[in-house]
Amino acid sequence: MARLHNFSAGPAAIPLEVLEASAAGLSDYRGTGIGVPEMSHRSKAFIAIMDEAVAGVRDLLKVPADYEVLFLQGGATLQFAMLAMNLLKNRGDYVITGVWAEKAYSEAGAIGAVEAVASSKDARYSFIPKNFTQKDGSDYLHITSNNTVEGTQFRNYPRPPQGVPLVVDASSDILSRPLDFTGVGLVYAGAQKNLGPSGVVLVILRKDLLERNPRKLPEILRYSAHAKAGSMLNTPPTFSVYMVKLVLDWIRKEGGVAEMEARARRKAGLIYNLIDEGGLYRGTAAREDRSLMNITFTLPSEELTEKFLKESEKQGMEGLKGYRTVGGVRASIYNAVPLASVEALAQLMGDFSRKHG
Ligand SMILES: *Cc1c(COP(=O)(O)O)cnc(C)c1O
Repeated sequence: MARLHNFSAGPAAIPLEVLEASAAGLSDYRGTGIGVPEMSHRSKAFIAIMDEAVAGVRDLLKVPADYEVLFLQGGATLQFAMLAMNLLKNRGDYVITGVWAEKAYSEAGAIGAVEAVASSKDARYSFIPKNFTQKDGSDYLHITSNNTVEGTQFRNYPRPPQGVPLVVDASSDILSRPLDFTGVGLVYAGAQKNLGPSGVVLVILRKDLLERNPRKLPEILRYSAHAKAGSMLNTPPTFSVYMVKLVLDWIRKEGGVAEMEARARRKAGLIYNLIDEGGLYRGTAAREDRSLMNITFTLPSEELTEKFLKESEKQGMEGLKGYRTVGGVRASIYNAVPLASVEALAQLMGDFSRKHG
């Protein structure tokens, strides 16, 4: 059976060679006679996998030495709460750019005082707010690097006032471009968009923040405890970490994050060009804030949208339906989505537009 063109928003496409390598590691890891999911996380073999995963992130993103790289559980959603538990003393500031930012804001609100310093909600999150100010006394500024649902992305991260760490949810664009760590205190990313399978979340945290301890917490919710234990405070999601390691190897082999960014520009350009031709499709994101990972657009009617989605399925394309509360079409074109898949989508869009435009 042929593989589909996978445009799912998450869990999302994983490179075929990673899937095949992980299938081999499932039953016999490098001739050890046992598979990765059945080996002790304290074994030499697994500790090496964890070390290589950490080293892969450090290498690909050029993570400065004063940052910890952790692999935790509970997804990005647990990070919404956990980052506030660990960092929020006085007030956390949030830029609200979409449904995931809203959730981050609301979860932190269960821990302490939060403030929305900017929001594009009134414009259906179609743009990234740029000029905003923060009051004194903020513990951090939280942004969502790429808005998976709405199809917008920060081109550049904002610079909070001196001493206020930037906290970044990069779940849907991590490793799709270089990351500037200037002013950044914490970056987190659920793995299931650009890093591999679900079940593990990457956390990159500046070491001085480990010592903040604004409140008493159970160990499992404390970054410092996870850092001290090398992400092995309890049994880690071993197979997910293994697959992330394979994805990191793949990115390096393909040319690193600069190459991922070049590919993303090329792939996204194919679709945005069609949108800009002014035919059947309307982009929903402001031009300068368009995401290179999730492309959102609408057709003139529900009927045509349905028809388009049906046709895409017929042509072996998966996951193009827009988010349940937003509608329209969303093409998620993460690192692992090949150019050929995006070319197939562009071909369909062109053909469909000529037929129905
Ligand atoms: C998918 C996503 C999340 C939620 O991730 P979970 O791992 O399901 O908790 C959070 N933020 C962004 C930007 C996402 O794309």
